[in-house]
Amino acid sequence: MGIRKEVLFKIKPVDLANKTKFKKVSEYFGENTFNAGAMKKVLSQGTFSAFNRWLSEGKVITLEQANEIATAMKNWAIAKGASYYTHWFQPMTGLTAEKHDSFISFIGPGKVIEKFSGSKLIQGEPDASSFPSGGVRSTFEARGYTAWDPSSPAFIIESKLGKTLCIPTIFVSYHGEALDKKLPLLRSDDALNRSALNLLHLFGHKGVKKVFSTCGPEQEYFLIDKNYYNLRQDLVMTGRTLVGAPSPKGQQMEDQYFGSIKERVINFMFEVAEEAYKLGIPVMTRHNEVAPHQYEFAPIFEESNLAADHNQLLMELMKKIALRHDMVCLLHEKPFAGINGSGKHVNWSLSDDQGNNLLNPGQTPEQNLQFLAVLVAVLRAVYKHSDLLRAAVAHSGNEHRLGANEAPPAIMSVFLGEQLTKILGMLENGVKASGSKQGVIDLGIGKLPKFNQDTTDRNRTSPFAFTGNKFEFRAVGSSQNISTPIMIINTIIAESLDYVAEKIKAASRGKDFNAAVLKVVSEVAKETKDIRFEGNNYSQEWLKEAKKRKLPNVASTAEALKALTKKENIELFEKYKVLSKEEIVSRYHIWVEMYCKLIEIEANTLNEMVNSSVVPPGLEYEELVADNLTKIIALKKQTGLKLEAKAIEDRKAHLSGVVSIIYYVRHNTREMMELMHKSEHLSPEKKAELFFEKIKPYMEHIRKHVDALECVVSDEHWDLPKYREMLFIK
Ligand code: ADP
Ligand code: MG
Repeated sequence: MGIRKEVLFKIKPVDLANKTKFKKVSEYFGENTFNAGAMKKVLSQGTFSAFNRWLSEGKVITLEQANEIATAMKNWAIAKGASYYTHWFQPMTGLTAEKHDSFISFIGPGKVIEKFSGSKLIQGEPDASSFPSGGVRSTFEARGYTAWDPSSPAFIIESKLGKTLCIPTIFVSYHGEALDKKLPLLRSDDALNRSALNLLHLFGHKGVKKVFSTCGPEQEYFLIDKNYYNLRQDLVMTGRTLVGAPSPKGQQMEDQYFGSIKERVINFMFEVAEEAYKLGIPVMTRHNEVAPHQYEFAPIFEESNLAADHNQLLMELMKKIALRHDMVCLLHEKPFAGINGSGKHVNWSLSDDQGNNLLNPGQTPEQNLQFLAVLVAVLRAVYKHSDLLRAAVAHSGNEHRLGANEAPPAIMSVFLGEQLTKILGMLENGVKASGSKQGVIDLGIGKLPKFNQDTTDRNRTSPFAFTGNKFEFRAVGSSQNISTPIMIINTIIAESLDYVAEKIKAASRGKDFNAAVLKVVSEVAKETKDIRFEGNNYSQEWLKEAKKRKLPNVASTAEALKALTKKENIELFEKYKVLSKEEIVSRYHIWVEMYCKLIEIEANTLNEMVNSSVVPPGLEYEELVADNLTKIIALKKQTGLKLEAKAIEDRKAHLSGVVSIIYYVRHNTREMMELMHKSEHLSPEKKAELFFEKIKPYMEHIRKHVDALECVVSDEHWDLPKYREMLFIK
């Protein structure tokens, strides 16, 4: 029996007998987090207040207070069964990292107690030399420090034989440069806070003390049976299939999206949600996505920093829990060719400490005006810095997805919806709204329609779409850490909020404030008009139109990343104290290198697969066909078997077909590998260029021939699980 067939018999329902019974979520939500509620119970009043002041006003706590928190945290964790703790951080790999230490401490020969001090809580010192730093930290200065991020609660990760206390931290070099993704995000929220407060104060909101970004990331993913996964070197090594013929049925029946969720998958979803709730992750929505075996989870939005931590944790939970259900969770942007890939729509908005969403149109004329000021600031940010937004989503996996008829193209544009487009159009043209129909508000300086949030007004092809009271950045890849896209959005919008605020200040000097705001809104709307697009972003017309508007359309990752090294962009990040020149340039180098390494792994995996799993079954089948032909011809000679010449020709053609496909597969693979060898001495930038322009097309070409072979070779000989199995067998 072929190895693939064996898998068929291995697939059986997972034993769910020892899974927990139903509990009300409100009774256990966040039970594994040392959150405000847990802290309040165990800390002295003074320390608890000091901690809260640290969060709201940035006034750092004393070492004594840190000691008190550390001891309380340790006692809380031990009471829950934890024996180890770790600083949990997000290095530039895009994943999370942890180095575990036990709580034990000697108190005499052979005698230990559990101990945890404030200094250990506040700072850790993992050896940083094995994390990418892009040259920020030379190896002889291998120290890296993790420092406690009090804004994200510590949490406990459970495994069958033990529990670990995880303390969210930032990761910095000896000189304080960011070596991670979290510190820049925190800094960008600070920048956004300053700029947004500046604008809000102009509008008279003196009471607002803090503004922060909010985020709700919709996470798409695939689930496939573990047994099939393990038979595919490409999925194991690269997260995507490098070969594989499309199955006759793909997503064309449109029967998966929002379809009823299969039992095996819903059990997985229940368990993910339960584990997520324990960690305080507010998972909310779950459904089938467009492609077969594709799904989505979306949480209730939170402060960006928390949302980013939670999304990282959620991805880890999904991978871990899928295995418990004998499935593998694929987070790659394009695991299967020919059907939809996975994205992570990052919903983004701004909120103040009084619970107001600054992108909420509002009820009064004043609120509407302020909303319009913030809105045009967003428009300007995307208009001016679309190159940075593109860089924010530039990585190898996303290269397969952007513009592939399922995700927005690499051209950044903003969708606003009919109503807002009309309003901005009126303002730009200096036309005042006529009449005072219902829903039209008299500003005393012209009339503005009352906005209503039209949730049906959606454009699912737009990379940056306004969806009623938030923007949805739809170009982010499913495997990405969202910290970087949010950090970039925060920074470019901080700058534009300042720009708008300065313009309003200048225009309102000695003039009516409302009139001045409207004037500025119209000017900025006009200046940035080219970034707005309401049509179908997948269409050819848009490609042409965007070119006319001179909007960048960068397909290659390495090319897109160059935006990070532009002088004006470095100045922007430095001005807003989000990244220093050294930090941003190092990021550029890390990401270009990472791109090269990923393509290298893909090319080497493809080479190995061709040699070990594609050509051998091809040859076996070729032999079968050749033997068969020899035998038939021999029989004809020996016994005078009557054979139509056409039938013999057909067999011969079949055999030559197989021989030539194998030739093309081998020939192209050899050429690709020769090119790979030649590339060894190139700089990462040159390598990335070569990989994009030459190696990737080779890989596509090889795939085409391999897939043709898959379609002729007998099922019995072909050991690689097929699309029709991986994507359809439940
Ligand atoms: P859709 O698929 O229609 O875009 P979903 O309900 O799947 O919508 O996801 C919308 C996401 O946007 C949710 O995670 C939601 O919490 C988030 N969201 C809603 N309001 C805000 C906001 N003000 N800021 C950030 N995210 C938000
Ligand atoms: Mg959704």
